[in-house]
Amino acid sequence: MVSPLKPEQLVKEASGKEVVEYKSERTFDSLPISDKLKACLKAKGYERPSEIQDKSLEYLLDKRDILGIAETGTGKTAAFLIPIIEDLQIHRKKSFALILLPTRELAMQVEDEFKSMTKGMGLYSASYIGGTNINTDLKNARRDSNIVIATPGRLLDLVQRRAINLSRFNTLILDEFDRMLDMGFVKDMKQIIAGMKNRNHTLLFSATLDKKQESMINEVLTNPVTVKVSSGEKTNDHISQDVVRVPQGEDKFQVLLNMVSQENYEKVLVFEETKHQVRKLCAKLNAAGIKSDDIHGNKSQNARQNALNAFKHGYVKVLVATDVASRGIDVNDITHVINYQLPMTYDSYIHRIGRTGRAGKTGVALTFVN
Ligand code: AMP
Repeated sequence: MVSPLKPEQLVKEASGKEVVEYKSERTFDSLPISDKLKACLKAKGYERPSEIQDKSLEYLLDKRDILGIAETGTGKTAAFLIPIIEDLQIHRKKSFALILLPTRELAMQVEDEFKSMTKGMGLYSASYIGGTNINTDLKNARRDSNIVIATPGRLLDLVQRRAINLSRFNTLILDEFDRMLDMGFVKDMKQIIAGMKNRNHTLLFSATLDKKQESMINEVLTNPVTVKVSSGEKTNDHISQDVVRVPQGEDKFQVLLNMVSQENYEKVLVFEETKHQVRKLCAKLNAAGIKSDDIHGNKSQNARQNALNAFKHGYVKVLVATDVASRGIDVNDITHVINYQLPMTYDSYIHRIGRTGRAGKTGVALTFVN
C-alpha cells in the first residue's frame, strides 16, 4: 500500500478495552512432550502454552503442515521449536530442519530460544545470516548441526558454494513470511524450496495474510491446518496514537528532548529515516543526558545485538532505529514509539507502532508532523 500518510490516520485513542490474555487450560507438564523438554521449558519460566503453541502442538507432532497467522510476541518461535526438538531427541538427524527468516535479529532470537530449550540434549544449531563474514560460515558449515537458521540470501550463497546441501533437510519453517516477501526474498525462497527435494513437513508463519501471499502459500504447503491467533489485520486498539505538531521555526529536537526526559517515557523507540540521521540523533540525545543507543544497517551484528540488549534490559532509555533494523525487535515493554519523521507508508507506520503495546500492555505512538 503506497499512499501518502494523512495526519488524521495517526490519531487514535487507545480503546479502554482490556486486552485479554489467552490462558491455556493445560500446563506444559500435561502435554505430550518429553520430560527433558518439559524441564527446559520450566527453567525458562514457561508454565502454560501460549495460544499459538496450544492450538498447533498436536498437529505439528502429527506432521501436519501449518499456516500460522501470528505476530512476534505470540510465542510462535517455541510453537515450531517444540515439535522439532521432540523429533530430534528421537532421531537426532543432522540437517533436520531449516528455518528461514528475514533478519539477523530474529535469527539470533530463534537460536537463543533453541539453545535454552535444548540444554543438555546434545543438539546443535547453526545460523547463517547476511552481513557477517562468509568464511566463518563456510567453516561452520563443515560441522554437523541438527537445525539451520538462516536468512535466504546468505543460505543460497552457501548452497551455491556447495557448503550446504538442501536436499538433506526434511522440515522447512518459513518464519515472518510476509516480511520476507516485503524484503524481496521471494526468488531466493523459491530457489531454496526447489532445492529441498526431501522436504516432507512445512510450517509457515506470517503476521498478516493477504492476496499477494496466496499463490506461494498454496504452492509450498500441503493440506495445511490454519491456526490464527491474531486477526491477521492488526487493530492496534490498545495503542494510543497521536501527532506532535512542530510549527516552523521551533526546535524539533528540543520537543523530543522534553518528551523523553519525562519519567513515564520509560522505554522509547525512536524512528529516523536514514542510518546517518539515526546515528546523529542518538549522539545528540546522549549529549543531552538521555541514555540512548542506536541500530542501523551499518553497525556490525555484535554492535546491534549489544544495543538491543542494552535497550531490553533498561541500560539505555531510548533506542533510535531505522525501519529495517527495527524488524524483529522483540522487546515486550516499549512504552513509546516515536516517529521523528513521518514514515513513508501506512504499512510501515503500522509496523513501527506495533513495537509498543505488546503482551497485553497499552502503548503510545507519537508521530512528528510539521
Ligand atoms: P515469540 O513470539 O516467539 O517471539 O515469543 C515472544 C516471547 O514470549 C519470547 O520472549 C518468549 O521467550 C516468550 N514465550 C514464548 N512462549 C512462552 C510461554 N509458553 N510462556 C511464557 N513465555 C513464552
